[in-house]
Amino acid sequence: MKAVGINGYGTIGKRVADAVAAQDDMKIVGVTKRTPNFEAKRAVELGYDIYMSAPDRENLFEEADIPVKGTIDDLYDKVDIVVDCTPGGVGAKNMESYKKAGVKGIFQGGEKHEKIGKSFNSFSNFDDSFGEDYVRVVSCNTTGLCRTLNPIKELCGIKKVRAVMVRRGADPGQVNKGPINAIVPNPPTVPSHHGPDVQTVMYGLNITTMAILVPTTLMHQHNLMVELESDVTIDEVIDTFEKTPRVLLVDASRGLGSTAEIMEYAKDLGRPRGDLFEIGVWRESLNIVDNELYYMQAVHQESDVVPENVDAIRAMLEMETNPEKSISKTNKNMGIIK
Ligand code: NAD
Repeated sequence: MKAVGINGYGTIGKRVADAVAAQDDMKIVGVTKRTPNFEAKRAVELGYDIYMSAPDRENLFEEADIPVKGTIDDLYDKVDIVVDCTPGGVGAKNMESYKKAGVKGIFQGGEKHEKIGKSFNSFSNFDDSFGEDYVRVVSCNTTGLCRTLNPIKELCGIKKVRAVMVRRGADPGQVNKGPINAIVPNPPTVPSHHGPDVQTVMYGLNITTMAILVPTTLMHQHNLMVELESDVTIDEVIDTFEKTPRVLLVDASRGLGSTAEIMEYAKDLGRPRGDLFEIGVWRESLNIVDNELYYMQAVHQESDVVPENVDAIRAMLEMETNPEKSISKTNKNMGIIK
């Protein structure tokens, strides 16, 4: 059992902790907290030991009656790898302390690729992180793009991708973020950072992206136009997506015509926190016009990167050489449909 620590127990951190704890070849040794809030209390109830990332706040934990096992430095001594889930930009600053402590580190999409040096997606470049010390799991949007572009590339080759991302304004728990009543080009420049981010794991892919923020918290929605290298039929594309792990074809005609209904479906599946780890592709949106494939997809930003973090641990700790085996093991243990 490999020993894993989580630094930053927020939206992504708490989900990665549960996903790691569900595996049979790795375990959570501890999670860090700065504040003794409801998430800290819940972590204790779930059996996770808490380590303080701001040791000068020990009295706050004492006052809240939340037991702590030690400081973040104590946690470093007990783990093979830290999954850093701190807010964007903080992770890169933590890298020095991981190096000093001699522990490996996984970072999230809020960090810049250049600061970490290597980016990861289970389907695009698993092998490149084998045995690596510091790796970044690409962002929720980039993960969504890679999940469906990889199988298309393998099926028929890709000449060029254009994608427009409709991004959720905030996560459901972020009460202070907007927009509340606006559509915001974000970034207002073209291309958005998403295309270059895809290229950090799908090397050489010709892709240009644009993005807007809208007043919703549930999911991102993507609109893709993919110029294909060779002729294929829609049935072949459907067959490919049906066989692709972590991709779900959803039917608007069966009541899954919006991000709200897709999230309702995830709750009906009994998913923890109502998460949908898979990318939902609207079957009706698939069309090929002049050898260009069009489709629309939905991305649950809070959870799609979670299984990728588990696979990244296996690659970096040299626990598995075959990406398909890691993907299927992670999926089975997390209750992902295929
Ligand atoms: P979050 O704000 O929900 O959680 C971050 C946690 O880190 C909080 O518990 C916070 O208290 C803690 N923290 C803050 N500063 C810290 C420090 N110096 N040391 C230790 N802990 C600290 O953030 P999140 O949404 O989980 O995002 C984490 C990372 O994941 C970011 O890089 C983000 O870009 C990326 N990401 C977020 C999403 C998403 O939709 N939320 C999706 C994919 C990737």
